[in-house]
Amino acid sequence: MTKLINGKEIAQNLRNQLKAEIDSLKSKIGKVPGLAVVQVGNVAASSVYVKAKTKSAKEVGIDVIDHHLSQETSEKDLLELVYKLNNQDNVNGILVQLPLPNHINEQIILDSIHPNKDADGFHPLNVGKLSIASKNDENLLIPCTPYGCLIMLKGLDINLSGMNAIVIGRSNIVGKPMAQLLLKESCTVTVAHSKTKNLEEVCKSADIVVAAVGRPQMVKGGWIKKGAVVIDVGINRIKLNTNGEIKNKLVGDVDFIEAKKNAAAITPVPGGVGPMTIACLLRNTTIAFKNSQKN
Ligand code: NAD
Repeated sequence: MTKLINGKEIAQNLRNQLKAEIDSLKSKIGKVPGLAVVQVGNVAASSVYVKAKTKSAKEVGIDVIDHHLSQETSEKDLLELVYKLNNQDNVNGILVQLPLPNHINEQIILDSIHPNKDADGFHPLNVGKLSIASKNDENLLIPCTPYGCLIMLKGLDINLSGMNAIVIGRSNIVGKPMAQLLLKESCTVTVAHSKTKNLEEVCKSADIVVAAVGRPQMVKGGWIKKGAVVIDVGINRIKLNTNGEIKNKLVGDVDFIEAKKNAAAITPVPGGVGPMTIACLLRNTTIAFKNSQKN
């Protein structure tokens, strides 16, 4: 029987743990973590994400400091806001929602966030730490989506050590950090990408498949080895024609129905990786807060 990995439930458990931890910190030191959420412009998807992140943060007891700036905001003004937040005591985590308008260089903005307040774990210093720190380092700020995937894998009660893992996609926010995390777990990791040859064959040899491509149902059921674990990061909106009626549907990068026939465990889309990403953002903010109390 294929196990359906329930991201909603696992994320809820993580949020419950964080809430208990934040309640306890509040009663001990009278302070709670603060997360600054910065949105520039009104991209509809960004507004949805910002709303969901803000709601979840408040639910676990994190203070949210909201900055919604106009589409015309200059790079200089955004940098000034980030520098201000870097120095603001009640801000422990800073999240700048991507994408930013084209006239702003995203990397310059991400690099300007103080590494200790880097709620997304995208700062070069944190990227470097992820590659060299021990797997037991609890203080690291790790990119949220891949860390969420790792929590789901670890919850399966399988020994990751020595497993063949393929990560399809090499983005800085998902694929590369995912590969680092699996390497830390002593997996043998292959990172596949748009130029990979014989992807199907490489995929067929994997015990763990993490798909982070952004191409609807690209990974076919036949690419999945019997008994493999499949983590589908992709979120793709497709149009479906049901009896002449066009409906929008969210699908992953994996052909779920076919892959499920071979997989030992698989994440659905939606309800798999998505909820974990937000829960891990709250985790990073809480870690940043605890780290700040040690200084
Ligand atoms: P990206 O566009 O930055 O990277 C996509 C990667 O896929 C690239 O490295 C590219 O080389 C690779 N790729 C493209 N075509 C390929 C092909 N034919 N074969 C093999 N590899 C190919 O995307 P991203 O930001 O890493 O996101 C990937 C997907 O994950 C998207 O669908 C995105 O919406 C989703 N996502 C979901 C969450 C979540 O919380 N669930 C978070 C981040 C991203």
